[in-house]
Amino acid sequence: MDYRCNRRTKDVISVLGMGTSSLPAGREGAQILEAAVEGGINYFDLAAAESVTFTTIGRTLAGMRSRLRYQLHFGAMYGPGKSYGWSLNLDRIKASVAWQLQELKTDYIDYGFIHCLDEEKDWQTYQKHGVLQYLLDLKDQGVVHHLGFSTHTPVVANSILDMDVADMMLFSINAGYDYQHGEYARGSGNERMALYQRCEAMGVGISVMKPFSGGQLLSEKTSPFQRALSTWQCLQYVLDKPGVLTAVAGAGSLAQLENLLGFFTASAAEKDYSCIAELTPVEMQGRCVYCNHCQPCPAGIDVGLVNKYYDLGRAGDALAIDHYHSLEVQADACTSCQHCNKRCPFKVDQVARMQEIAAWFAQQTH
Ligand code: SF4
Ligand code: SF4
Repeated sequence: MDYRCNRRTKDVISVLGMGTSSLPAGREGAQILEAAVEGGINYFDLAAAESVTFTTIGRTLAGMRSRLRYQLHFGAMYGPGKSYGWSLNLDRIKASVAWQLQELKTDYIDYGFIHCLDEEKDWQTYQKHGVLQYLLDLKDQGVVHHLGFSTHTPVVANSILDMDVADMMLFSINAGYDYQHGEYARGSGNERMALYQRCEAMGVGISVMKPFSGGQLLSEKTSPFQRALSTWQCLQYVLDKPGVLTAVAGAGSLAQLENLLGFFTASAAEKDYSCIAELTPVEMQGRCVYCNHCQPCPAGIDVGLVNKYYDLGRAGDALAIDHYHSLEVQADACTSCQHCNKRCPFKVDQVARMQEIAAWFAQQTH
């Protein structure tokens, strides 16, 4: 397992988290949860499909609660015998949260989430109904440790980020949506990337939902890339995006969990997702996606990372500029050997870009 740190909360979070929408109830679910913790997973998204999932989690994980982080959704409705529902009603939300805490056998929430707001008007209603204030009050009382939010829509995400109350964002990221394919392909590729960069600059961690586009990317029949991607390729794609701390992937069986954990022993070639380049939208052509398919650079430059710091730096991320200056090998080491240009399936003119990057960073103070 690998871990990343949320800069604002200092929580150290497993890059593979667990979504709970496909978790089976009872003994089978308990076995999956135990194996997940054994595999190093410490971050759980609790937007479940069925209320019974909370009972399963409480019975299985209560004894190790202090080692784990839960993100719990204010607006996702649960109760005895119920399936998932959605509400903006404060009293109903209060009742649902109380029930979830009781079933989880816990008295605190690591990340209290403003839940699934995809329309600007819903965000206004959420505030008007007092749900945001309720979350803030619980934070003052120490019941909620940090705030977060979930959405599929960049424009709503930016409105919530403007208030600077959240430390985590749950967002739907995968190559399909970023390349304008699929139900939640909201916002242009550039808008979506700007959102990830903004989160990175603000230190707001991104937990990723739908990393496989609801399974669409895993099948040749439904993948927009006309080929099945593996879960490992999808995870690598997501983890290469700025701001991302963890992908909360669902596992409906022990075999699925084992497959996900296999990511950490898979080879770089098995995780290489550069085959998606064929479908790069026009607006994103020639842009580095930080995949490092072009490695190794004979000069020792980490091409993907240098490009990521450059894009973040230009988007106003001072920390990324510092990180760049700490690199042992920087863009000015490029010998224009053309190796990366020949290898890059995304048609990035990296030779020109390295000169541009070196010149830009030379003008930045550090
Ligand atoms: S130059 Fe191309 S191959 Fe290399 S990291 Fe960027 S997108 Fe990937
Ligand atoms: S062109 Fe520059 S960045 Fe690309 S492989 Fe050669 S030395 Fe490395």
